[in-house]
Amino acid sequence: MIPYGHQDISQSDVDAVVQVLHSDFLTQGPMVPRFEQAVAARVGANYAVAVNSATSALHVACLALDLRPGDRLWTVPNTFVASANCGRYCGADVDFVDIDPRTYNLSTSALAAKLEEAERSGTLPKVLVPVHFAGQSCDMVGIHALAQRYGIRIIEDASHAIGGRYRGAAIGGCAYSDITVFSFHPVKIITTGEGGMALTNDRELAARMRLLRTHGITREPDRMEGCDDGSWYYEQLDLGFNYRMTDFQAALGLSQHDRVDEFVSRRRQIASTYDERLAGLPLILPFQHPDTESAFHLYVVQIDSDSTLIARRTVFERLRKAGIGVNVHYIPVHTQPYYRRRGFRLGQYPEAEKYYSRAISIPMYAALETSAIDRVTAALREALS
Ligand SMILES: *Cc1c(COP(=O)(O)O)cnc(C)c1O
Repeated sequence: MIPYGHQDISQSDVDAVVQVLHSDFLTQGPMVPRFEQAVAARVGANYAVAVNSATSALHVACLALDLRPGDRLWTVPNTFVASANCGRYCGADVDFVDIDPRTYNLSTSALAAKLEEAERSGTLPKVLVPVHFAGQSCDMVGIHALAQRYGIRIIEDASHAIGGRYRGAAIGGCAYSDITVFSFHPVKIITTGEGGMALTNDRELAARMRLLRTHGITREPDRMEGCDDGSWYYEQLDLGFNYRMTDFQAALGLSQHDRVDEFVSRRRQIASTYDERLAGLPLILPFQHPDTESAFHLYVVQIDSDSTLIARRTVFERLRKAGIGVNVHYIPVHTQPYYRRRGFRLGQYPEAEKYYSRAISIPMYAALETSAIDRVTAALREALS
């Protein structure tokens, strides 16, 4: 089976991890700050906080922005559940904004309309989580302008998007947001096994996220409330978590990070091969907004139901039978039983639902070989016939 996504681990990645395993520190050693500095420097953010997953990064980001019970967090239905769940972890109410049918990202016009209504009813959100779907940036200029107007904080969920660019700048620089989050799960662009990172330009937000990832404990005397009892002394200032990344994960991340550009250019090359080979089939291929350079975490085709009667399910099952490990991203979050129990229902976000009914993610990863691309495109052609 050719999977839809796969990590690319080199001998130098292995060596970097083994070196840490033979060192004194498996965790809380020198590799985590080195990895953080490398990513921050690359994307042009002032601060980076590495944690054990993007889910944890989203959680500490929401807490750092003081999201609480009674507050609201908005995100899109077309995402992994973690983009919404982080709001629930803080006791906030979650709501959704429909997607743009071309980019599959948060629709700026739907956001504008929903904000106007929320202002009238006194239900404005505190935090908005736009998701850079498949690695293509959202319309951050438009979203940021609206957020400024209504006093809303922004967390970019860039789990798909390290190595992508928006208006010429690397995604992660937080030019239009308070915090940006990356995921290092093995199917994402670079991996640490499990892992994530929160980037920000705000010193105080960075300090809060650092505190929260390790039990709310500080060892910095100038942050303490009491007096420093001795060099063993630490203080728990807040209720934090153990969300730390290990040093061997950070070593893997640092080594992988050296190849971000290589990985993304290979993904972009695969995307343009797919674009060429799949043109003319009854498929809607990924639209690329001219402001963006996608990292191409995913390559999603939609079955064009205006030009074929074949159902998505049929195409999907034929591809799986042919050994192509296709997948679907994403089941709209508001239709999950957990969110239905909170009052959401089918029909509320028609663009996300329509997109979902026709989408298939075909294999996309840096190590995907040319012969595998041939197999995927031949199988897709066959499945649609
Ligand atoms: C993968 C993913 C996450 C969660 O990442 P983890 O590192 O697995 O916690 C969150 N949001 C989106 C959009 C993702 O794709």
